[in-house]
Amino acid sequence: MKTIDVRNKSIEDRFPLIFEKLDEFGEMDVIIETEPKPLIKRLKDEGYSVNVVNEGDHVKLEIRKPEIVPGRCPGAETIIRPKLQIVNCPHCGAEMERWTDEIKGVCENCGKEVIFDIDSCIQWCEYAKKCVGDERYEEIISTLEDVRKGPIPDVRKFIESG
Ligand SMILES: [Zn+2]
Repeated sequence: MKTIDVRNKSIEDRFPLIFEKLDEFGEMDVIIETEPKPLIKRLKDEGYSVNVVNEGDHVKLEIRKPEIVPGRCPGAETIIRPKLQIVNCPHCGAEMERWTDEIKGVCENCGKEVIFDIDSCIQWCEYAKKCVGDERYEEIISTLEDVRKGPIPDVRKFIESG
């Protein structure tokens, strides 16, 4: 972690220096005499997380990029706070209940397996694992892979019967 000591800098040079270095390094520690409330406020306004560590005659500010808060991403809503939907079975047309985090289900009417569309950013978002949790992520991704590898459904029979 980069550390900059601003104690020898003049007051008016400090803020520009800190923001310049943050642009360069992304995250860093800053050594300063006392807790700089206006600076911390501005950093937080810009989305950084700031941890103040008292180190005796000075404080260390641990300035970090924002943490991904699990479940905060709106795209992961369907997985983390699933909602009940009513969908139609593609085989027999009967209504069936489906939670938005379910990829597969079985139709109660015809007993056939149904693959649902999963509409979520977890398929491509780089933070997905952190967002929905490792276990859930692996489960969803491996199920999606199985579904992709599976046989292509024969659509003719639906057209003929419909
Ligand atoms: Zn059905």
